[in-house]
Amino acid sequence: MFPKDSKSTSLNSEINFPINLLLVEDVPEDVELIVLSLANTDLQFTYDVAETAIIYQEKLQENTYDAVLADYRLPGFNGLQALEILQQSGQKIPFILVTGSLGEEAAVECIKAGITDYLLKDRLFRLPNILQRSLEEFALRRQQQKALLEQQKAEKALRESEKRFRSLIENAIDIILIVSSDGQFIYLSPSVKRILGYDPDSLKGQGFFDLIHPQDQQSIKAIFKRMKQKVNTSKPLGEFQIRTQNNTWVMLEAIAKNLENDSAVAGFVINCHDITERHQTAQQLRYDAYHDTLTDLANRWALLEQLQQAIDHNQRRRKDHFALLFLDLDRFKVINDSLGHLTGDKLLQDMAKRLQQCHREGDLLARFGGDEFVFLLRDIREPEEAVVVAQRIHKVLKAPFILNNREIFISASIGIAISADYYDSPEQMLRDADAAMYRAKEKGKACHEIFTPTMHLSALKELHLESDLRQAIQRQELVVYYQPIVCLKTQKIVGAEALVRWHPPGKSLIPPNDFIPLAEETGFIIEIDRWVLQYACQQLYQWQQDFKEFAPQFVSVNLSPKQFSDPYLKDKIVDIVATTGLGREYLKLEITETVFLKNSHDVLDILSQLQQLNIQICLDDFGTGYSSLSYLHQFPLNSLKIDRSFVRHLGETNKKDAIVRIVGRLAQELELELIAEGIEENYQIEALKNLGYQWGQGYHFSPPIDQQAFSLLLEKNKINV
Ligand code: C2E
Ligand code: MG
Ligand code: MG
Repeated sequence: MFPKDSKSTSLNSEINFPINLLLVEDVPEDVELIVLSLANTDLQFTYDVAETAIIYQEKLQENTYDAVLADYRLPGFNGLQALEILQQSGQKIPFILVTGSLGEEAAVECIKAGITDYLLKDRLFRLPNILQRSLEEFALRRQQQKALLEQQKAEKALRESEKRFRSLIENAIDIILIVSSDGQFIYLSPSVKRILGYDPDSLKGQGFFDLIHPQDQQSIKAIFKRMKQKVNTSKPLGEFQIRTQNNTWVMLEAIAKNLENDSAVAGFVINCHDITERHQTAQQLRYDAYHDTLTDLANRWALLEQLQQAIDHNQRRRKDHFALLFLDLDRFKVINDSLGHLTGDKLLQDMAKRLQQCHREGDLLARFGGDEFVFLLRDIREPEEAVVVAQRIHKVLKAPFILNNREIFISASIGIAISADYYDSPEQMLRDADAAMYRAKEKGKACHEIFTPTMHLSALKELHLESDLRQAIQRQELVVYYQPIVCLKTQKIVGAEALVRWHPPGKSLIPPNDFIPLAEETGFIIEIDRWVLQYACQQLYQWQQDFKEFAPQFVSVNLSPKQFSDPYLKDKIVDIVATTGLGREYLKLEITETVFLKNSHDVLDILSQLQQLNIQICLDDFGTGYSSLSYLHQFPLNSLKIDRSFVRHLGETNKKDAIVRIVGRLAQELELELIAEGIEENYQIEALKNLGYQWGQGYHFSPPIDQQAFSLLLEKNKINV
């Protein structure tokens, strides 16, 4: 081994021991001397000897050596040529001349040619040192060369990776930006040109935030601020719009990474993906989800959502009121059925446009479904403001719609609900606005009603009533009461009006006004009326048996306008009366003016046929409905019953008295029997008598009473004769 100093230690690992030497020497004694000089050290070595150039060449081809020790003067060649042969062999090892003598000139030439060292044979004791140094020198050179090669390899790999990376970025579909933490562009990938239109170089040094849509700027700046404190972390920037060179907006989705500490980047790397198309599709889907396809107005879902927000807001700030206008077109079904659905659709579209004219800024107009529209009026200070909008709606609907070259007039009934702290859900408020809308319809359409909590109560009541009413008839819960109709002059009972009551078990009597409207709506009224008719006819027949000439001369039975939709109405009535045994001339049917709104030809037919069969017809509640005097001679009537509202106000105003008087005169001329209902006071009897009224009914004589109580009355009536 070579002496162990620090340098040789590190190089020793580069040298493989034992070293293999090639001695180029033709004199065997000299070979011996060289070997001896080395053997005296602890250098481990092996060696070959080449005496001639040919052997030398062969050895170099066959083996690898760690060093060549060559004489200068050799048979047929010299040291310089020996060096050349080594160089040609490709082995890069020390070449040391060990020679008897070497002139100065030759020495210089040899050194120039590249020998490692030389040694005179009389100084062989230096050989180990020279060999060691040479080996170390070569080891060092090899090490350096290896390192250089590795460095070159690494550089090449880096260059290639950079090239790959650059090409990746240059051809990237996404935009890659490097932006300083205060928002200045440091680098922009070429895709900026394709997506945003800018020349990337022109934006370098410009502000990134300046290109962001004002409504997104704050959030992006805030994320930058948060990221500044956290190097090496990534954060999504979310979705934001960026201005293109053409001043349009592109929607980007981005993620940023803080690489400020990386000297090659020294900023935030932002990877932006163009999601404009995806965003537009999403927006379209969102639009479709919240809009009505026919009218392009907001739809039911949009309304429910915004209404919920308004309710939530109102619960936080009680002072901020809002209102709902629930609008239902009157007679839309008729138009749809008669002119076809396409025309119906066109009408709804035109209607939507018209309604938009009544729209205040910030309000929402939605199509709720079918022919129902809803306005959500925000910032209402008093209910009157909602009424003003309703009036505006009625006004714009006054002008006709032109459909298929025809003028079509259509009105709307509007229910108004004002925000209140008891509303927590949109459904509650819509239900109330809807209830108010129904009131408006009942009031005769083309008008509006503000919801009041009593409507809510009655709506709730109706809900339970409906399911109970279904079973009322089968369970025999209906009862007929009778109210006497009295001759005003003699005060004797001349007739009885049958008035239905509902007596659910365990509950008090329900008056007809509480369930008849519902029964009419649901169609139960037809069954109810038939049952009452049969019951009342049976009863009168019974009284006729019991009281003979003291029995009432007739029984009045109320007939719902709904009945007139039944083409077999007349036959059914006749059949029912026949089963009871009562003569048809003892029956009076009370109808109200609303029946005339139906197809008047049909009504006229039915009434005429009934009259021909001796059944009498009485027009009830006269004066409250349409009160067209022309009905009086147009329709076959036997009696006229003036509504109790006129009787109640008798003597209060000349105007009302005049109506009662004229109706009285008219009835006389048309030879109609006259009945006044709702007589509660004595003076009313006198006044009515003076105005020519023969008959009357009212609490003054008796309220409606059950069959037993009425029989007692008849008993008394008999005695008083
Ligand atoms: P209507 O046919 O006009 O009946 C007269 C109503 O006036 C009855 O109310 C009666 O109790 C009430 N009345 C009688 N005298 C007075 C009075 O002096 N003062 C006041 N304030 N009211 C008086 P009721 O029984 O509640 O019936 C209400 C309405 O229900 C009836 O009005 C009628 O339109 C309807 N109705 C009753 N029974 C039937 C029925 O069997 N079928 C149909 N379709 N309708 C019926
Ligand atoms: Mg009646
Ligand atoms: Mg009446």
